[in-house]
Amino acid sequence: MALGRPSVLPDRVPTVRDLLAAGGRSFSFEFFPPKTDEGARQLWKAIRELESLRPTFVSVTYGAGGSTRDRTVGIVERIAHDTTLTPVAHFTAVNHSIRELRHLVGRFADAGVRNILAVRGDPPGDPMAEWVQHPDGVLYSEELVRLIRQAGDFCVGVAAFPYKHPRSPSIDADTEYFVQKCRAGADYAITQMFFRAEDYLRLRDRVAARGCDTPIIPCIMPVTQMSTIARSEQLSGAPFPPEVAARFEEVADDPEAVRRLGIEHGAELCRRLLDEGAPGIHFITFNRSSASREVFQRLNVPSSVTAGPAGRHPLPVAGGLQGDAR
Ligand code: FAD
Repeated sequence: MALGRPSVLPDRVPTVRDLLAAGGRSFSFEFFPPKTDEGARQLWKAIRELESLRPTFVSVTYGAGGSTRDRTVGIVERIAHDTTLTPVAHFTAVNHSIRELRHLVGRFADAGVRNILAVRGDPPGDPMAEWVQHPDGVLYSEELVRLIRQAGDFCVGVAAFPYKHPRSPSIDADTEYFVQKCRAGADYAITQMFFRAEDYLRLRDRVAARGCDTPIIPCIMPVTQMSTIARSEQLSGAPFPPEVAARFEEVADDPEAVRRLGIEHGAELCRRLLDEGAPGIHFITFNRSSASREVFQRLNVPSSVTAGPAGRHPLPVAGGLQGDAR
């Protein structure tokens, strides 16, 4: 794509925006770019296993280092070309000039990828280190949203944080900036993972109270081992809810029982969210299919709920952390 010139996308592939606008619900799975050949085999196995569920989209996180980034672009391109799935490319501003960002958007367009999740990204190594803007780059994800919008007919997602972003001085400021990036052109948002429905509902109410109706898709990661609970604050930004932790403590000595409870709890959480009108569920998979697939299958999502034009094909149905991303 020439710099600054809106890209011409090959043909109009339906987007997440189309599906949500038609009142459908979105069910999606998130992967990260693996570092090894064995990791790559695992990833493609998981992608193929989840493909049969015909999710609305699958997303691939974007890392901080150059080689991880190339892997993200390569995986997204391969999903677009070799599978029936709709890929959503995560995309960050870390260490990129505006020129590079535009070039990357052009690569996605050339591969027929029309769905991009625009997040600012964290400093490589220490996510809480000072965020240094590239001298010719952007400062906030809001600017990324505008940049992608100007580049062509893309559907753009953004990140939302039920417990506020750790850098935000207050919940109010966090909500205000979130609404600002929605108004900059975001079509939908995906949350950071969380483990209690109320935390999502409070975020949605805060955003709605500011007159913003951008759909916010909750992100779920089924608990499959006790170590997830220990890392909850690092993963989600808040301690694991004590009432849920107590249920897991009862079976802590039995890894199989922990996993079973994790699937049960994941399904309960999803059901409650869907009953409360959430526009779908985004599952973090850690590049494995089984836990997310088991939770999804327990939801018994009827095909009429998810039918819609979001796929690259007619749609009959229907982030240690994220590898090195989220
Ligand atoms: P921003 O929206 O830019 O916000 C960053 C901080 O600045 C917040 O505190 C915000 O309140 C504040 N802010 C925003 N606008 C303004 C303004 N105008 N003035 C003052 N303050 C402002 N990371 C990766 O590296 N790769 C990934 O693939 C990835 N995928 C993710 C997917 C999801 C669904 C989520 C929830 C997170 C993901 N992350 C990923 C992590 C994300 O990059 C970090 O959490 C990052 O620190 C914040 O990104 P953001 O887009 O919310 O940033």
